[in-house]
Amino acid sequence: MDSKIDALVIGAGFAGLYQLHSLRDRLGLSAKVLEAGGDLGGTWYWNRYPGARCDSESHAYRYFFSRELNEEWEWSERYPGPPEILRYLGRVAEKFDLRRDIRFGCRVVSARYDETRNRWIVQTDSGEQYAATYLVAAVGCLSSANVPDIPGLGEFDGKWIHSGHWPHEGVDIAGKRVGQIGTGSTGIQAAPVIAQTAAHLTVFQRTPTYSVPARNAPLTPEFKRWVRENHEEIRAAVRSTPNGHAFRIAERNVADVTPEERQAIYEAAWEKGGLQFRATFRDLLADQAANDTAAEFLRGRIRAVVRDPKTAQALADIDHPYAAKRPPIDTDYFETFNRDNVTLVDLRADPIERITPRGIRTRSAEHALDIIVFATGFDALTGPLLAIDIRGRGGRALREDWRAGPQTYLGLQVPGFPNFFTVTGPGSPSVLTNMPVAIEQHVEWITDCIGHLRRNGIDSIEPDPEAARRWGAHVNEAANATLLSKAKHSWYYGANVPGKPRVFMPYAGGMARYRRICEDVAARGYEGFWLNRGSEREIPAARAGAAGEYAAVRGPGI
Ligand code: NAP
Repeated sequence: MDSKIDALVIGAGFAGLYQLHSLRDRLGLSAKVLEAGGDLGGTWYWNRYPGARCDSESHAYRYFFSRELNEEWEWSERYPGPPEILRYLGRVAEKFDLRRDIRFGCRVVSARYDETRNRWIVQTDSGEQYAATYLVAAVGCLSSANVPDIPGLGEFDGKWIHSGHWPHEGVDIAGKRVGQIGTGSTGIQAAPVIAQTAAHLTVFQRTPTYSVPARNAPLTPEFKRWVRENHEEIRAAVRSTPNGHAFRIAERNVADVTPEERQAIYEAAWEKGGLQFRATFRDLLADQAANDTAAEFLRGRIRAVVRDPKTAQALADIDHPYAAKRPPIDTDYFETFNRDNVTLVDLRADPIERITPRGIRTRSAEHALDIIVFATGFDALTGPLLAIDIRGRGGRALREDWRAGPQTYLGLQVPGFPNFFTVTGPGSPSVLTNMPVAIEQHVEWITDCIGHLRRNGIDSIEPDPEAARRWGAHVNEAANATLLSKAKHSWYYGANVPGKPRVFMPYAGGMARYRRICEDVAARGYEGFWLNRGSEREIPAARAGAAGEYAAVRGPGI
C-alpha cells in the first residue's frame, strides 16, 4: 500500500501528538502518526522502571497551547509519574480526537526522499509504505536504549532488563538479588525503590554524581487552584526562562553574598528540593569557582547522610562540576546506602570484567544476582534518528552525513533532506530544557513554516549548508561558554556510546534566546533556508544582525 498523505509524523509522545493536532486541525492537512509502541506516551510508554517520575514540576510539565485543557486537568503530585502522565496524554488525545490518525505498533524502518515527486516514502517494519510531502521526526531524544557490550551477557542465567524497556506487566523483584548498573537520573530514581523489595541490591557505579532531593508531595488544593487560575503567568514564565522551567534563575553571583549567606541559600534550596537548586546563583554554570561552592555543599550532604565512610567517599568523589552532566533529583538515594541490603561497588576501583551465568564478576569478586537492571542510559539525540535509514537528495544517507556528528540548522532541519523536520533534534535546546516547552516551540515553528510554504506555493524547504555549518559552530560556542564543556564524559557529548563522535549535541544558549533566534529567522523569510519551487530556488538574503550572527553568547544560556 502506498498511502498518500500531506504529512507523516513519527512518534506519538508529547511531540507527535501536538504535531498531529497542529498540522491536521490548524493547517487542515491530512496527517498520520506512526508509532512503534503499543500506545501513546513516547518516553513514558517505555520507561516504567521502579521509581520512574518526571523531574520537571507538574505545573510546568504540560502543554500550554490550550487554556481549556489546563482548566480541565489537575496534576496530583509535585512530580508526576508515568501512569498519571499517560492519563494526561490520553486525555489530550481524546479531547483533540487524535487516536483515529495514529497507527500503533508500527516501527518506521526507512524514509527516502523521492526528488521527482517531492515526497517522502516511508516504510514500516510490517512492510507498509506511506508517501507524504512532509516528514516530521518526533522520535524523542532519549528513546534508543544503550545496553553496554559487556562480555558474557548472553550466558547470564537470570533476567536482565534495560530501564527504558521495562516490561509493562512489571518485574517481580521481591526477595531477589538485584544488580543495577548505572547511577544517572534513572539509576538514582530506581535504586531506593528496588532496595525496598529486593533481597539485596548491588549498585555498580562507574561515575558518581550529585543529586538534590526531589521532595515530591501531593499538591495542596490551594496550589492546584493557583495553577488553574494562573495559566497565563505560568505560560509566560516557562517561555521566558532559559531552561523552560517555571522557576527563575537568581540574578546574583556567588561572590555577591557572604559565605554564611551562601550556605543559607544552599540549605534553603536543598530543603525546597528539585532542579531549581541550580538556579540559586546565575554563575553556577559559567564560573568554576562559583560552581565549586555548590559542588562542595552537595558533597558535604552525601558525607553527612551516608554512614559508611568508604561508601560515602565513593559516592562523593565526583569528577565534574555540578550540573555539567544532567543533574538528577532523588527520593532517599543516598539514604539507601545505609540499608543492610544495599552494597555499592565502585567500578573505578573494581571494574566489571564480565557477566557470568551467576551474576557480575568484577576484578575482585563475583556478585551473585537473579536480575540485572541496566540503568545505562541512551544513545541520545542522534540515536533515535539514525535507527531509521533516512535518505535525502540523491539517496544521501543521514547515517553517512552525520558520521562525524549531527549537522542541523537550528536542530530543525538537515541540509540535503528537504521537507524533513526534527522536533527537539540535535542542535536545539531539547534535553537542556523542560521538554514540553521545547516541544511546543518546535511544533509551532514547524507548523508555521509548513503553512508559509503552502500559502506561497513553495514545494520544499531545506537548510543552506553554510547556515547549518554556522549554526553548528554556534552550538559549540554556546557549550563552551558554560561549564558543560568541562564534563566531556557525558551523553551530551555522545561519550556514553562507544564509537559515537564526541560532539556537544544540544544547544546550550538557552531556550528563550533560541526561541528569539527561530522567530527572527522566520520573520526574515526563513533566512538560512532554501525555498524551492520546482527547479527554482529562492534564497532569502542573509542580512547581518541577530539571526545572521546569532548574537555572541555572553554567559550561559542555561
Ligand atoms: P545516563 O544519565 O546516561 O546514566 C547512565 C549511567 O550508566 C551512568 O551512571 C553511566 O556511567 C552508567 N553506565 C553506562 N554504561 C556503563 C558501563 N558500560 N558500565 C558501567 N556503567 C555504565 O542515563 P539515565 O540515567 O537513563 O538518564 C538519561 C537521561 O534521561 C537523563 O539525564 C535525563 O535527561 C533523562 N531522564 C529523566 C528522568 C526524569 O525526568 N525523571 C528520569 C530518568 C532519566 P558514566 O557516567 O560513567 O557513563
